[in-house]
Amino acid sequence: MKHSQKMQITIDGPAGAGKSTVAKRIAKQLRLFYVDTGAMYRAIAYKALQSKIRLEDEHSVSHLAKTTEVILDHSAEGTVWCDGENVTQAIRNPEVSRAVSTVAAYLGVRERLVELQRREAERGGVVMDGRDIGTHVLPDASLKIFLTASLTERANRRWLELVKAGKEVLLEEVSHDMQKRDQQDTEREVSPLEPAHDAVILDTTGLSVEEIVAKIVAMAQEDGR
Ligand code: C5P
Repeated sequence: MKHSQKMQITIDGPAGAGKSTVAKRIAKQLRLFYVDTGAMYRAIAYKALQSKIRLEDEHSVSHLAKTTEVILDHSAEGTVWCDGENVTQAIRNPEVSRAVSTVAAYLGVRERLVELQRREAERGGVVMDGRDIGTHVLPDASLKIFLTASLTERANRRWLELVKAGKEVLLEEVSHDMQKRDQQDTEREVSPLEPAHDAVILDTTGLSVEEIVAKIVAMAQEDGR
């Protein structure tokens, strides 16, 4: 399979907007690489928790990010490796979700991960999702999407995902954690969550995954981007 050389699609937005589900499908349809940047921040948060480093200790967490090997495996379905450990499942735990926005706010952590993300984009055409991809990581991307949906719908989607994965969680808890994370991501100083000035804002409330994917693929193909 030959990957398109030039196409870069960025998908940013708050938690639970459907970014990764949609990005994966678009990547498959358009034969692009998919890069889940949230997984990288989660891997660092996971490692910090494992290493019993205080999350408030910016210096130690930044050092950890620089010395931890994070690999996204493109050949296997989204496997995430952290210093040789398969952390694909572990990084989705609520404990990691609660810790991740704290570590993601640190400049040292972001510098390191953005470097890795840009390196991924050099491999060929890419769909990359996150919070600052259109604004900072790939500012020259051919198509920038900012996905949103109502908090109720986003919390419901995430709760269903967790329940399907066999986790026992309350919807209220998921909704509360999500709001807190979005607030932290939006209010941080370094590369906060915001739409790029040239992003297409897509409210996915009430839309199916198929409808969202179709809209974005049509935009990508529209002007031969
Ligand atoms: O996308 P996901 O919800 O897995 O991201 C987890 C967290 O990682 C976000 O809440 C945010 O704190 C951080 N993140 C980020 N910048 C990105 C991707 C994720 O700060 N590009």
